[in-house]
Amino acid sequence: MTYDPENIFAKILRGEIPCNKIYEDEFSLAFHDINPQAPVHALVIPKGEYISMADFTRNAPAELIAGFMRAVGKVADDLGVTDAGYRTIANAGPNSHQEVPHLHIHILAGRPLGPMLDKAFA
Ligand code: AMP
Repeated sequence: MTYDPENIFAKILRGEIPCNKIYEDEFSLAFHDINPQAPVHALVIPKGEYISMADFTRNAPAELIAGFMRAVGKVADDLGVTDAGYRTIANAGPNSHQEVPHLHIHILAGRPLGPMLDKAFA
């Protein structure tokens, strides 16, 4: 699978469509999810053409991987959810229901989130 430069997060990174920005640095951009699944629902994306965690961890330079992961922790801090707790999710590939083919880490917080998945697997 090749990276689709017309995916919506690529357009946000290029400034072609707006986002509700939380944080930005040389490695990452964070913004509020347009369809929040919790009182706090942020997305953190790396600056680079990476489809998924698999693509990113195989192909991104170490400095970008480190910078991106630091941004996830910083965004949680900046949102004030670190002490109460939060959940990070990175969907990757069809079984995960990944909708946008640019790596993103969801930060979900703001209330007790319950079990990791809402139904046991069958
Ligand atoms: P995933 O299913 O893991 O690929 O998640 C994609 C997420 O992107 C969903 O939670 C969407 O609500 C969110 N999303 C899609 N378009 C936008 C947008 N323009 N701005 C912010 N969040 C978006």
